[in-house]
Amino acid sequence: MDHAIRIHQVTKNFGKKNVLKDINLSISPGQIYGLIGPSGSGKTTLIKIIVGMDVPSKGDVQVLNTSIPNLKALQNIGYMAQSDALYPELTGEENMAFFASLFKLKKSVQKERIVYAANLVDLSSHISKKVGTYSGGMKRRLSLAIALIHDPQILILDEPTVGIDPELRLSIWNELIQLKKKGKTILVTTHVMDEAEKCDYLSMVRDGMILTSGSPSALKAQYNVSNLEEVFLKAG
Ligand code: ADP
Repeated sequence: MDHAIRIHQVTKNFGKKNVLKDINLSISPGQIYGLIGPSGSGKTTLIKIIVGMDVPSKGDVQVLNTSIPNLKALQNIGYMAQSDALYPELTGEENMAFFASLFKLKKSVQKERIVYAANLVDLSSHISKKVGTYSGGMKRRLSLAIALIHDPQILILDEPTVGIDPELRLSIWNELIQLKKKGKTILVTTHVMDEAEKCDYLSMVRDGMILTSGSPSALKAQYNVSNLEEVFLKAG
């Protein structure tokens, strides 16, 4: 397989507003690929198009060499949206079990996956509590655990660490790196530059356009600067 995700000439308009302008990118399997840009630059719109929750005005998206939307390809994606979609009156474990049931996992596998995912996001001691009692950061962690529940090949995470304290943020990034080592492909949006540093490859976006792309070290070398913030300023 050449690409885990391939975006070809994608444009998106909302009415007269042109939100994505001829986006092209390809994500190799086993990469952590970062989409970096300020709020309003079009990251979420692009993510929603990749996961089949919105459609491009023009262009084509392929996931695992299949044009989206396609049920099989979408089932290979774990998606963590920017806002949490959880059931407050159910416990963390019940929320995970609910989403696991959508993927028709065997009961024994489901149990294993819940234990694994809860542990990964450091929620094991809270999964029998109702989600309505969780803090914002705990809800983000539960959403990440749910994105992982069916052991997808591709993880798509929209601002996964917003509202999460620095220590846990670091541990989540360490886990993402472990998942990458297991062969997962991870697409992540962020506006935090030290998170961008941990990506294998970055595209910097502004006003619906990709300003520049490359590995963090290649970008810094190309623009002859010492940090990614300066790359962003120079590229723009
Ligand atoms: P980001 O994720 O980078 O913050 P978004 O993709 O959420 O950016 O938004 C990009 C632009 O598209 C913003 O100007 C936003 O207001 C606009 N936008 C997003 N969704 C819609 C919509 N459903 N209708 C109209 N405009 C939208």
